[in-house]
Amino acid sequence: MSPKVPSGPGKAADDSAVQVAVRVRPLLPKELLHSHESCITADAEQRTVTLGHDRHFVCDFLFEETSCQEEVYAVSVQPLIEAFFLGFNATVFAYGQTGSGKTYTIGEANISSFRDEEQGIIPRAVAEIFKLLDENDLIDFSVRVSYLEVYKEDFKDLLEVETASKDISIREDKGNIVLCGAKECEVDGLDEVLSLLESGNTARHTGATQMNPHSSRSHTIFTVYVDQRRGGPRPCGTMATAASGGDSQILTSKFHFVDLAGSERIVRTGNTGERLKESIQINSGLLALGNVIGALGDPKRK
Ligand code: ADP
Ligand code: MG
Repeated sequence: MSPKVPSGPGKAADDSAVQVAVRVRPLLPKELLHSHESCITADAEQRTVTLGHDRHFVCDFLFEETSCQEEVYAVSVQPLIEAFFLGFNATVFAYGQTGSGKTYTIGEANISSFRDEEQGIIPRAVAEIFKLLDENDLIDFSVRVSYLEVYKEDFKDLLEVETASKDISIREDKGNIVLCGAKECEVDGLDEVLSLLESGNTARHTGATQMNPHSSRSHTIFTVYVDQRRGGPRPCGTMATAASGGDSQILTSKFHFVDLAGSERIVRTGNTGERLKESIQINSGLLALGNVIGALGDPKRK
């Protein structure tokens, strides 16, 4: 989000590699009971949100309190899934204050108890990925997922909790960033992916703050990897290989869904002791991430 004057109404104007969608969640029953009032004004036409009276921010997509999960997904994520299917990598981050609706929007929690229309981004995106793979006449494809938690700078593999943090590392391989040591499960369909997500969620670090009884105290990265073999003549019903098929092509792409730990104002969360230390670590990690994203989205620093 940038504090500037919007270029005009409608959809995202620039083709920056980084786009920002702002979602304003409705007040929760508990907040209504305490007569809380919203401090945000959203102008969908201008894509601006105003904090209080005079702090204006412009974003690429704006979802007001009435926006449903389907709308958020269809407008801001579905186009990325289409690009992902064509071989592009993409990442969606859920960022915001604790209790603002990150986990709800990214769709990591309560999957089995939610009705279809309440499902967030991940279940919708994975369903679409399998639909695209099934509908298109690919020679061959495979889908893998991994699910990691970053807690106080340590990794935890949510698909294989016995793995020690020191056995997981990020390396660079000819410009490609790879995660070594994290379990990748090959999956055949949406249900399998959702049950992996749910079992991983039970191992997550959460803790109550004054602002959210199930506040996530860690970042999670759920990644979907797709390898597809496309094109090229299929020799007599057998699977073509890159060598025998001549012009067959292997496309590999990955999509990260990141649910960040909530940014916190320590006064508001009322944290002390270990929780306070966590908050400081969470905030400094988010600041570093903010600097990286700021640099990536800044045309002058391209
Ligand atoms: P965060 O992950 O940012 O800390 P949560 O996703 O846990 O916050 O959301 C906090 C509470 O608000 C949850 O009970 C969630 O169900 C509810 N909530 C969040 N966004 C919405 C929304 N758009 N509509 C209805 N309820 C929401
Ligand atoms: Mg959360």
